Amino acid sequence: MATWPVIGHEWAIDLLIRAITGPAHTGGSTDRRLSHAYLFTGPAQVGKTTLARAFAQALLCETQTGTPCGACRACQRIAAGRYPDVQFITAEKNTIQIDQVRALRSDAALSPLEGAYRIFIIREIERASPPAANALLKTLEEPPPQVILLLTSARRDQLLPTILSRCQIIGLRPLPLGQIQTALETHWAVDPQRAALLARLSSGRLGWAVNAHTDPELWPARAKSLDDLLALAADGYLGRLAYAETLSRQGDAIERTLELWATWWRDVLLVQRGLPADVVNLDRRVQLAQQAELYRSEQVEAALNDLIQTLRRLKANVNARLALDVLALRLPRPAVV
Ligand SMILES: [Zn+2]
Repeated sequence: MATWPVIGHEWAIDLLIRAITGPAHTGGSTDRRLSHAYLFTGPAQVGKTTLARAFAQALLCETQTGTPCGACRACQRIAAGRYPDVQFITAEKNTIQIDQVRALRSDAALSPLEGAYRIFIIREIERASPPAANALLKTLEEPPPQVILLLTSARRDQLLPTILSRCQIIGLRPLPLGQIQTALETHWAVDPQRAALLARLSSGRLGWAVNAHTDPELWPARAKSLDDLLALAADGYLGRLAYAETLSRQGDAIERTLELWATWWRDVLLVQRGLPADVVNLDRRVQLAQQAELYRSEQVEAALNDLIQTLRRLKANVNARLALDVLALRLPRPAVV
């Protein structure tokens, strides 16, 4: 029996299957269960686009069972990004531009070329420029029949209420770590030890775990960030400020670094509280045990709080340099042994 090409998020799949196969849908177009627009929200790399793509396959699959067969021409071409009625729209130079939405609007006015629907998958909708968001709103308000918009966003808090109110919202949550570990072992042939580490580091985001497994650069980058943190804590003020300056110019990598550092301090706390089995950075257990000896737990708690605060400030678009300076200067100093 065919299944959706998605791991986890079972409740969302059930809901989407019901939308496709529900009685109103087969009874006519006036009262269909299918919405004109869906918004998939959830943390980065949790599976939003994967689910949206699978939904597009399910809508256009030649079997019309509500589950993509994976074998028909529609399923295969959608998976390969080569189906004319399914278009992906992603930010160009960090922004979804008005021209992209204009092109979408003129394509949306045309009948589907092959299937029953024209589907637009717009990723990271929070990156739409204000004119682009307004233009999109017009399509959301008066969608042409047979058009379905699938939006994704990790930043629901940044979206216009008018966009939110016109979409059915599917809020995806992180997957249980056991599910990620099993998926890595079963579908990506990752050895169990590494799969356990990746699952913990992923915070329940399968896409992150798979990327970390396949991206040759991510692994050394993680090692370097952790080594940097240890060196930084032992460094003087000048060294700390110089590092903050360098880090402040690294764009998207800033958040990744700080999130990783947060896992580190959380792990140190867990070791201090006698829960070493729960740490995320499983491959560094020896080092974590050493670190737990070098700091008082109040210092570690403060460092963790500082990181959480800094991440919050960066999301609110404060000056990165300033926020990182403060963070670097407040890093706890290890006791001399
Ligand atoms: Zn199919």
